[in-house]
Amino acid sequence: MTATELDLDDTSSCNPASKCSLCNARGQLSVKTATTLVGVICLTLCAGCVAAGRSPRLSPAQAAVMSLEHCQHLGITADAMAELMAAATRDGPAATEATR
Ligand SMILES: [Zn+2]
Ligand SMILES: [Zn+2]
Repeated sequence: MTATELDLDDTSSCNPASKCSLCNARGQLSVKTATTLVGVICLTLCAGCVAAGRSPRLSPAQAAVMSLEHCQHLGITADAMAELMAAATRDGPAATEATR
């Protein structure tokens, strides 16, 4: 598989948790991805948190663990994820933020 064609936001192999990671609600859950400094993570959010655009506050260590788990869901290595993220930041809107 060529890593460059992989979608880091693919959540088809991620396991939804039994409750929202932010507010612990148990209804209308879906798996969403979030981009952190250390990698893309997946987390389970309820419809309310998704609509409000809430994102979790994670320590770098937590984010690292979660992004490693999401690497496993995607079937890629952490290195492959880092490469994909670097490629995405180069052309993405986040580039202005990062180069400041
Ligand atoms: Zn929620
Ligand atoms: Zn995942």
